[in-house]
Amino acid sequence: MSFFAQLGLRKVINASGKMTALGASAVSDEVADALKRAAQDYVDIDEMMEFAGSVIAEYTGAEDGCPTCGAAAGIAIATASVITGKNLSLIERMPDSEGLRNEVIIQKGQQVHFGASIAQMVRIGGGKPIEVGNANKVEPDHIEQAITEKTAALLYIKSHHAVQKGTQSLETMMRIAKEHQLPFIVDAAAEEDFQAYIRMGADIVIYSGGKALEGPTSGLICGKKKWMEACRMQYKGVGRPMKVGKEGVAGLIAALKQYPSKEDNGDEQIERMTKLTEALADAKGLHCSIKQDEAGRAIYRAQIQVDASKAGMTAAELLHRLESGNPAIFLRHHYVNVGILSVDPRPLLKGQEDIIASEIKRILKEGQSS
Ligand SMILES: *Cc1c(COP(=O)(O)O)cnc(C)c1O
Repeated sequence: MSFFAQLGLRKVINASGKMTALGASAVSDEVADALKRAAQDYVDIDEMMEFAGSVIAEYTGAEDGCPTCGAAAGIAIATASVITGKNLSLIERMPDSEGLRNEVIIQKGQQVHFGASIAQMVRIGGGKPIEVGNANKVEPDHIEQAITEKTAALLYIKSHHAVQKGTQSLETMMRIAKEHQLPFIVDAAAEEDFQAYIRMGADIVIYSGGKALEGPTSGLICGKKKWMEACRMQYKGVGRPMKVGKEGVAGLIAALKQYPSKEDNGDEQIERMTKLTEALADAKGLHCSIKQDEAGRAIYRAQIQVDASKAGMTAAELLHRLESGNPAIFLRHHYVNVGILSVDPRPLLKGQEDIIASEIKRILKEGQSS
């Protein structure tokens, strides 16, 4: 029986992706073992944090790193670090940054909500978010002209949540930061390439440990040594209420070590999703196919098009019934308004595609007979 079911919580089948609201990732045995062994022992935390920094450096190509409890904490801690540097008195004052260089420039279409708002995370770190340009139109001038003697850093959000057209590229924003000798921070929370932005020259890059890395609830910051030392020092200040425990750091290290050897399992995904679409082939009002990820990643999802007139319910109704059942089944629903649901094979545990197919058929049959 699942741990959560033992507590009396509903069993969740996650076919939607790396969703914080569903517990982000289910870790491998190696990562789970690291979590368990670390939790049952003691360590000198400062020594472990420095060691973790060196592991992060090794896998990202950065000079140094800092573990966090998530990418959101990474934004707050990175912001504090560029305001305070390694000055302990300033570190102990955050998030009160009055009179200091504290402005963080963000393109308007990137000031997004990932579950909470980027701007709020900046404020928690003592920063004052300065949105520049318009949601779908930002010129280099908008960025340049927002730079003052109060500017602490430029922050770029690399995310599918952000507006993808009309904003300035990462390269352009970084060039402007460098011309003004300002630190350039990238929030790459869900990105799969842990080296790209450091290679391009970013000063500070933030990742989630629970998304592409498939680690425990955790995160990491990587970048220039002086900033990473300042980041780790924030645990004496604003970072304290967002501390990452020894278990989290241990799991993060294990996940980093495992990451380079992870193989593309595209063939297996296609096989499982074909099985699902075949099982649904005789369901009235559904048209199923297999679609590769829009962004071209090696993800093959089953797409379910719901013809409401034949199925007896809309895609939104089917989605709602699946989510409110027990097991609760969560599908991807970015296109539910045009009648499309999809099944993401990545987070599915063994055999769950069969449960999804039978639940969909059961719900449709119920709807069609009533
Ligand atoms: C998910 C996400 C975050 C927060 O990451 P956590 O690890 O859950 O704290 C921050 N920024 C973006 C763009 C995200 O997608």
